[in-house]
Amino acid sequence: MTNKHGFDEVLNKANLYLDDASLEVLKQAYEFAKKAHEGQRRQSKKPFITHPIAVASILCELEQELDTIVAGLLHDTVEDTDVTSNQIEEKFGNKVSVLVEGVTKLNKLKFHSQQQAQAENYRRMFLAMAEDYRVIIIKLADRLHNMKTLQFLVPEKQKRIAKETLEIYGPLAHRLGIYNIKWQLEDRAFQYIYPEKFTEIKELVEQTREERETFVEDIILNIHDVLQKAGITSSIKGRPKHLYSIFQKLDKKNTTINQLYDLSGVRVIVDKLEDCYAALGIIHSFFKPISERFKDYIAISKPNGYQSLHTTVLTNDGKSVEIQIRTKEMNQIAEFGFAAHWQYKQTDKKKQLETKLNWLNTILDHQDEKLAPNDYLQTLKMDLFVNEVFVFTPKGDLKVLSRGSTALDFAYSIHTEVGHSCKNAIVNGKIVQLGYELSNGDRVEIMTSKQSRPTVDWLRLVNSRHSRYKIKQYLNSQNKEDLLEAGKNRLKRAFISEGLIFETCFKDISQKEFFDRFNLSKLDDLYVYISQGDLSPREVLRYIIKQLKKEDEPTLSIKETSKKSKKMSGGIYVMGEKNVKFTLAKCCMPIPGDDIMGIVVIGKGVSIHRQDCLNIASIKKTSSERLLDVQWDIDRSKPLNYTCTLRIEGYDRDGLLQDLLSIIYESKVNLREVRTKVNADNTRMFASITIDINDIKQFYDIKRNLNAIEDVYSVSRVSLGLEK
Ligand code: MN
Repeated sequence: MTNKHGFDEVLNKANLYLDDASLEVLKQAYEFAKKAHEGQRRQSKKPFITHPIAVASILCELEQELDTIVAGLLHDTVEDTDVTSNQIEEKFGNKVSVLVEGVTKLNKLKFHSQQQAQAENYRRMFLAMAEDYRVIIIKLADRLHNMKTLQFLVPEKQKRIAKETLEIYGPLAHRLGIYNIKWQLEDRAFQYIYPEKFTEIKELVEQTREERETFVEDIILNIHDVLQKAGITSSIKGRPKHLYSIFQKLDKKNTTINQLYDLSGVRVIVDKLEDCYAALGIIHSFFKPISERFKDYIAISKPNGYQSLHTTVLTNDGKSVEIQIRTKEMNQIAEFGFAAHWQYKQTDKKKQLETKLNWLNTILDHQDEKLAPNDYLQTLKMDLFVNEVFVFTPKGDLKVLSRGSTALDFAYSIHTEVGHSCKNAIVNGKIVQLGYELSNGDRVEIMTSKQSRPTVDWLRLVNSRHSRYKIKQYLNSQNKEDLLEAGKNRLKRAFISEGLIFETCFKDISQKEFFDRFNLSKLDDLYVYISQGDLSPREVLRYIIKQLKKEDEPTLSIKETSKKSKKMSGGIYVMGEKNVKFTLAKCCMPIPGDDIMGIVVIGKGVSIHRQDCLNIASIKKTSSERLLDVQWDIDRSKPLNYTCTLRIEGYDRDGLLQDLLSIIYESKVNLREVRTKVNADNTRMFASITIDINDIKQFYDIKRNLNAIEDVYSVSRVSLGLEK
C-alpha cells in the first residue's frame, strides 16, 4: 500500500455522511493537491500534502459539505503552487474555486495592530472579507493544524501566531459556536503565550486528577442510576477541562484552583428536550443545587445557538460539581456549531433558513436589519449582512466606516479639520477622487492643504451623515452672505418641488401679514432663520400656498400640483440636492452625460432639459428666474432607463434596417419604437429608433456602431422643437 499521508482517515470520516460519488471527488482533489505540492515540505520536514489532508480531516469531523472539504484539500494550492483559480474551477467547479480564493484572500490579511481594542474590528473584517462562512471554517481548520505543528517554528513566530490565534481565531470559533475548535485553539495558543502559567495550571490539574476522576465517576454512576429508574435514557460523561478557561477564571475571579467550581464537570446527554427538564428535577432532588449558579440556556439560547441547562450541585461530602444537561442535537451544535449541523436536518427548510439568518445576524451584530429569508440568501454571502467597510490608515491602523463611505468621509472620520482641508486622497498608492468609494482592505492616505476648503460640491462627495453635517456646518458658518445664500437656496428648493418660485408668490400675498407671522423685520431675516435651521422652508411653503388659495389667484391652480406626470427622484442633483422630484423633458430627452438645465414648471416641479434645447434658450429670454442648476448624479445613478430617439439616414438597400436593429439588439437595450420612411426615388431611408439607455456613453457606443454599418450616412439624436 502506498503512503497516503493520512488521507485514508479523511475518507473514513467522510464515509460516515457522504455518498460514494462524493468520496470519488475527494480522491480526485487529493491527487490534484498532492501533485501540486509535490516536492514541498513543511517546517516539520514532512511533505506539504500532510497539511491540507489534516485540514480536510478536521473539516470532516465538523461534517462539512463536500465543496468545503475539497476546498480544504486545495486551500494552499493557489497561493503556494502554479495552480490557478481557473484550473480549480474547471476541475472542481465554481463554488470550490470561490472558497479557495476566499481563503487565499484572507491569508494576505496580516493582523498587525498591537492594540487589543482593534481585535474586534479585525474579527469583523474577517467575517466581511470572507463573504462566506465556509471560508472562515476552512481558515479555522487551517489554523488549528498550524497550531498543532507550531513547535517547528522559531519562537518569535510562535508567539505572533499564538497571539493572533487567541485574539482573532478563538473568538471567531466561539462566535460560530464551534467550541470543539475554540478550546483546542485557545489551549494551544495559551501554551505559547504564557508558558509558565500553562505549566503551572497543567501541573495543578494533574495533581488532583486522580482524586477528581474517582469523584466524577461516582457522580456519573449515581446520576445514571436515578435517571434510569425514572425511565430517562442518558449518556453521561465527565467533561474535559480546558486549561485556558481555568486560567481565565483564575485571572478574573482572583481565586485559587481549589475554589473553582467548574473544575469538576459532568455532561448529561438525553434524547428529548422534555427529558432535559425532567432530568434536572430528578438531579436536584438528589443533590442540593447552588441556586445562583443555575442557567437555562434552552429557554434563552446563547447568540451563537448554544443550548443547554447548567446547574451546580453539592454532593453529600460537600463538594461541588457542575452539571450540563442537553439533548444530542444541542450537544452537536455546542461542539461543532450551527454551520456543521444545519445542512443535514432538512425537516423544515424555511424555518431552518430563518434560524440561520437570525443566527448570522446576531453574530454579525446586525439585529437591526430585518432580512427576508429569500432563497438566494441560501448562499449566505456575508457581505449581504455587513454594512461596514474596513480600511487602513497609512500606519496600518484599522478604521471601520459605513459601507459606501468615500475617501472624503475617511478624512472627516479622522478629524473635522482634516476633512475641511482635504486636498487629495491616495488609496493603495494611487491618487483618487475625493468621492472615491472605499473597499475592504484599502489603505487610505489623506493629503491636506491650507488652501483647500469645503464647497457645496463636497456634499456630493460624501456618504456619511457625519461628514455631511460637518460640511454643512462649515458652509453655514461662513460669512453672512453665504448664510443668506444658503437659506435662499433651501427655500427655493422647497418651492420648486411644488413648481413654484418663492419671489413670484411672495409678491402676490400680504407682505405685512407674512412678516408678522414669521416675526421678521426684513426678508433677509427669513433666509438666515432658514439656514440656521430655526425655521423650516416647508412651513413657509405651506403658509404661502394657504394664502394664495385665499387670494384665489386665477393664474395659479395650486390643486394641479398633484403628480400627474411620472415624476422621478434620485439620479439628478437640483441645486446640490438629490431628493428633489423632477421629470425629463420630452422635447430633448436628456440622458446622463448630457449638459443639462432645469426649468421650474408651475404644477410640475422641475423639468430637466438638455442645455442646447430650444426651450432653454426661449426661457432664458422670457423668465430666467425659472432656470435652475442641475447635475447628473452619475456615480450612483441606478440604471433608470432613459429614453432616447436616434435618427438614422442611409442608402435604402436590402437588409439595412435589419443591420441597424441587430446593433440595437447586440447593445442589449430595450427597443421602444421603430419607424422608417423612404424618399420618393427610393434611394434614401430615414429610420427613427427609440430605445432605453443608461447614459451618453452608451449612446455614443451605439452611434459609433451604427455609423460603421455600410451605407449609413448619418446618425443623430432627435430633439423636438419648442414646447407649446
Ligand atoms: Mn494552510
